Amino acid sequence: MNTEKVRCLIIGSGPAGYTAAIYASRANLSPVLYEGMQPGGQLTTTNDVENFPGYPQGITGPEMMEDLKKQAERFGADIRFGYVTATDLSVAPYKITVDGEKIIEAETIIISTGATAKYLGIPDETKYAGSGVSACATCDGFFYRKKVVAVVGGGDTACEEATYLAALASKVFLIVRKSFLRASKIMQERVLTNPNIEVLFEHETLGLTGDKVVQGANLVKRRGMPDEEQIHIAIDGFFLAIGHKPNSDVFKPWIETDEVGYIRVLNGSTRTNIPGVFAAGDVADPHYRQAITAAGSGCQAAIDAERYLSEKGI
Ligand code: NDP
Repeated sequence: MNTEKVRCLIIGSGPAGYTAAIYASRANLSPVLYEGMQPGGQLTTTNDVENFPGYPQGITGPEMMEDLKKQAERFGADIRFGYVTATDLSVAPYKITVDGEKIIEAETIIISTGATAKYLGIPDETKYAGSGVSACATCDGFFYRKKVVAVVGGGDTACEEATYLAALASKVFLIVRKSFLRASKIMQERVLTNPNIEVLFEHETLGLTGDKVVQGANLVKRRGMPDEEQIHIAIDGFFLAIGHKPNSDVFKPWIETDEVGYIRVLNGSTRTNIPGVFAAGDVADPHYRQAITAAGSGCQAAIDAERYLSEKGI
């Protein structure tokens, strides 16, 4: 197989990966970045980004990612299309297989492969993507001021998003498939005492309705039970909050993760359990998951990689 040696390999092309590439190229690490399956990452599926500092008028997700990419290329980052299919982190330089046909031997690796929001799997989620369906209340909630929205899920994320949206929207439905919330007690209490939130326990979503944009949802209550009932709610926005899956599977034989799959980093750094391998952005962040925090940790990872290489004299 074709082999290439690099000093710094960056895997993933969201705000964390591109920011790492900007810093690593400016530090003369000659980084090579593989974009993965979704060049630009999760932000390419959002419309306007209004909470990233420096854009007073906001910017579209795809435009912002294109700008970050160009900024990294301006300093010499080698950005390539390709997907990591196998890893061998047993000994440095680490061997990373790309598209099953090329091996990169890397002295340092920055893993910034992100996380993927889970979806229900109903066709209407795709049909109304960017037109009323979102998986990030912090990103898109602002567009639903004084409107009616629904949040799906019963965990901490769903409760947090419902509470956040309740301060903006005129009403929030929380669609929970079980008869109870899985969230922590304090989050449950916030939801259950919020007059703006109506919790629909034991409800599942069958589909969404609307002409071009979401205008309603068809739900089923107590599916399969003798008293099963179908209802329709009028909504303007439909938010998924049923969990995220960090994209860490390909590294799992080597890299320590938590039980969900988020990569564990050593406190206050981006270091993983393998020397010279760093993690940045959503793949290592179960808590914040914002573009700006991902970009910040991408910067940290590049600085950590630079210091590691200089300590080793590589
Ligand atoms: P969780 O896995 O905790 O919860 C997912 C929720 O989505 C559950 O209520 C689950 O239902 C529901 N769900 C899953 N699949 C479906 C489906 N197909 N249809 C309908 N509902 C579905 O994920 P979270 O993202 O909420 O939390 C992840 C982790 O992050 C947790 O450990 C959480 O505590 C933590 N977290 C902490 C926060 C904080 O402390 N501020 C904030 C956000 C997250 P069911 O219960 O029936 O399985």
